[in-house]
Amino acid sequence: MLKMQCAKPIRKRLRKRNIKRSRVPLSKTSSVIFAPSADLTTEGKEEFAVLRGFHFKLDRAVMVPVQRHWILSTLSVELGKDRIGARGYALRDGMNAATYDVVIVGAGIVGAACADECARRGMRVAVVDREMVGSGATAAGMGHIVVMDDSEAQFALTRYSQQLWQALRRDLPEDVEYDQCGTIWVAADEEEMAEVRRKHDYYAQRGVPTLVVDSEALQRLEPNLRDGMAGGLLVAEDAVLYPPCAARFLMERAQELGAQLQLGAPVTQIGEGRVRLSDGVEIAGGMVVNAAGAWAPELTRGMEIKKRKGHLVITDRYPGFLRHQLVELGYLKSAHSVTSDSVAFNVQPRRTGQILIGSSRQYGAEHGEVDQAMLTRMLRRAQEYMPGLGQMSAVRTWTGFRAATPDKLPLIGPWPGDKSLFLATGHEGLGITTSLASARILVDQITGAKPEIPIEPYLPSRAVKEVAHA
Ligand SMILES: Cc1cc2nc3c(=O)[nH]c(=O)nc-3n(C[C@H](O)[C@H](O)[C@H](O)COP(=O)(O)OP(=O)(O)OC[C@H]3O[C@@H](n4cnc5c(N)ncnc54)[C@H](O)[C@@H]3O)c2cc1C
Repeated sequence: MLKMQCAKPIRKRLRKRNIKRSRVPLSKTSSVIFAPSADLTTEGKEEFAVLRGFHFKLDRAVMVPVQRHWILSTLSVELGKDRIGARGYALRDGMNAATYDVVIVGAGIVGAACADECARRGMRVAVVDREMVGSGATAAGMGHIVVMDDSEAQFALTRYSQQLWQALRRDLPEDVEYDQCGTIWVAADEEEMAEVRRKHDYYAQRGVPTLVVDSEALQRLEPNLRDGMAGGLLVAEDAVLYPPCAARFLMERAQELGAQLQLGAPVTQIGEGRVRLSDGVEIAGGMVVNAAGAWAPELTRGMEIKKRKGHLVITDRYPGFLRHQLVELGYLKSAHSVTSDSVAFNVQPRRTGQILIGSSRQYGAEHGEVDQAMLTRMLRRAQEYMPGLGQMSAVRTWTGFRAATPDKLPLIGPWPGDKSLFLATGHEGLGITTSLASARILVDQITGAKPEIPIEPYLPSRAVKEVAHA
């Protein structure tokens, strides 16, 4: 049985074992650094560190992350390799023979939400991922559940999904850290205050409660913002959560309803109702869903998705320093740019008292390494808004890849040319927010149910370059 113990500080143990506290090969796009506060746990002679819902196996060469409940089940952990060797609970031999109603490629938050939705509607569903649940952009995301007004279609999807998160909140376990802290869009000057008022009117007309705050009220709400800000817009129903645990929760819920999960299984080909794994094994499904995030175009040629790299930093614990998710209004300009690299002030309070600092956007950066120049630019921007951030210690820095489409809307629905293939990808910087609504409208399309919002803006047929499958 698993026995928890809080032993010597983990830093000392890692040093003794010659393990560096820097990079853990969680995936090519993200990395984990141990927090000194991680708990240690043992099972027989094996030792694990427990960090925010994940177990990390300690070995001489590497620390291999595996998910909590699998440690108690049938795991084969391949140590010393620069990849995840943990196999999911559902054994592949069982999966090979079966035919599923739906096979989902990708166990990020979007794939997990789709699995949950399929399972809840009585379908036999299988999910396949080359790594682990929530290990792609989902592990890298900030977890801001935010209503956005870039376009009517973006508003409809974000608002619908935010309401689905609100409805789910009572069922969410503690480690999902759902917190309706609200967003304040910060206006630095009068020009940006005009945008605050426009946004307020837009949301008011669509039933989203917001409050325009002046300079003094803003200072009271967030005393650590620098003096002289013009004001802001408080969007009280916006929330934050911890994305990998949210994905894990959705996947576990699907599994409780019979969904099968296979991890450590790279998919090389999809289409015509089949998913082919790198070892040649095929899984048959009435429908196949490509939910492979920024890697979706490798499996379905002809869709226009570009990787958009982002950096984030998390600080040590500073309880009370920050109360709301704060975003500069300039964020809208930088997020919209489809060519240049950009940074924007975007900070989030975590339940732990830590502060998550973002964010950056880069096209054409294929490598997941932290880019020091970009990081410096991002942190300078953050300090321009909140000078006190400059005195804090950072615990971890990482990057991730958003899946960006040319029109900034996701691809949700059937892929032209293959009746069995559906897409659920292209969520750029809003996939945590919109995962639940994406799953709803995807499964509505699969089952022929009437969606609650118009689906046309998200249909993949709008973005086809050439229809062929890899
Ligand atoms: C820095 C940053 C900050 C962000 N902040 C926010 C935010 O505050 N709010 C918000 O709503 N969104 C945010 N996002 C966006 C959000 O993280 C993504 O939109 C979302 O996680 C996408 O989920 P997904 O399931 O589509 O993709 P992913 O999480 O990337 O999952 C795709 C999965 O597919 C698997 N896969 C890929 N190829 C294969 C293959 N060939 N075979 C098998 N498996 C495969 C991968 O292993 C991965 O697990 C942010 C993103 C970044 C990078």
